[in-house]
Amino acid sequence: MRVELLCTGDELVTGLITDTNSTYLEARLFDLGIKVERVVLVGDVRADITQALKEAASRADVVVVSGGLGPTADDFTLECAAVAAGVPLAEDPRVLQWLHERYAARGLSPNPSALRMARVPQGAEPLKNPEGSAPLVLMKLGGAQLFFLPGVPREFRALLEGEVLPRVRAALDVQPGRTYRAFRLLRTVGVPESELDLTVAPMAPRHPRVVFGFRTHAPENHLKLMSEAPSQSEADAALAAVEQECRQVLGRRVFGADAEEYAAVLLEMLRQAGATLAVAESCTGGLIAQQLTAVPGSSSVFIGGAVVYSEKMKSAWVGVPTDVLDRHTAVSRETAIAMADGVRTACGTTYGLSVTGYAGPGGGTPEDPVGTVYCGLSVPGAPPRCERISVKGDRDRVRLFAASHTLEMLRQ
Ligand code: ATP
Ligand code: MG
Repeated sequence: MRVELLCTGDELVTGLITDTNSTYLEARLFDLGIKVERVVLVGDVRADITQALKEAASRADVVVVSGGLGPTADDFTLECAAVAAGVPLAEDPRVLQWLHERYAARGLSPNPSALRMARVPQGAEPLKNPEGSAPLVLMKLGGAQLFFLPGVPREFRALLEGEVLPRVRAALDVQPGRTYRAFRLLRTVGVPESELDLTVAPMAPRHPRVVFGFRTHAPENHLKLMSEAPSQSEADAALAAVEQECRQVLGRRVFGADAEEYAAVLLEMLRQAGATLAVAESCTGGLIAQQLTAVPGSSSVFIGGAVVYSEKMKSAWVGVPTDVLDRHTAVSRETAIAMADGVRTACGTTYGLSVTGYAGPGGGTPEDPVGTVYCGLSVPGAPPRCERISVKGDRDRVRLFAASHTLEMLRQ
């Protein structure tokens, strides 16, 4: 099945907005085994849109068109479709009724601009848009099936999922020789990309149906697995086998799959253990607390903590003894441990985490240059632990990896 995408709108060709509708559609179709053959962006010029519609319809089986269905003067995609098909625009009584109902729900009646949305090319089929006013419109042009969707991403996605993809799937099901795919994203921390590649490379010959891909998403590295087979069950089985093998080799360095977020996985692990957590942050300035509190429901595990950026606050808030700071400096094993112990005691939690380091660009010492970070963990009934890491890169990167490594101490 040859699929093309046509996105309309001046904003798309003048750098005002990024075309995210295309990437969304491409990813969803790729899940079905379809690669979009061509994506065309056209500004709000009638002749260009009409020409682009004719060209796409002459090449593709399916053309998805985004944008220009609204009520304003720059919305004329359906007008162009009518010209391309050589038919007039006609007011559709169903769309008219949907518009009246939608406006009436807000105690309004549609104005003449809004009523323009009821005009569709003669013979086209409008479908109700549950997320907005402009309908989805289905139309044949030459041998191609055209789908006209509103450009607003929320509406575009809803109509794509609800109406377009089910129709594409149904058409695929009756096509001979189709390829089925299955996907898994394995998320790792603490494994450099090159090592990830070396670890899984020996598996590739044993799994000819699987394509291995790698993606760096600092501080994580992701392993993308995609299997291809002549049936969905074979694709699923091939994926399951390779996923199991990858998980075996990588062990706990795989913290989650697909959409699972690191902080959410970590909090769930602590919640299941009935544990609570407090954090004392220096060089990360609250980044760890931000990551943890971004997860809904985190308050049952993450009690709070302190940003103790200065020596004064390290002493005043989490009780780091001044002689520890004097003898060992604020960026040291001893200070990290005192911070972790101190915040755990102050907050009365199961665990206390701490982080102190040189994020740069200035600072550091010959023994502990910029990028040196000490991460501390205070636990009940065992000596506190500290790890020293050296992060290469700019300030943002040092802080990102400092936060990640500190949290990772809880999983070790
Ligand atoms: P409306 O009823 O809002 O006018 P429409 O179908 O006419 O909807 P457009 O006017 O083309 O669609 O776009 C509406 C808004 O949707 C744009 O201002 C833009 O913010 C967003 N949008 C349009 N096309 C895309 C796209 N391809 N990717 C991401 N966002 C888009
Ligand atoms: Mg518009």
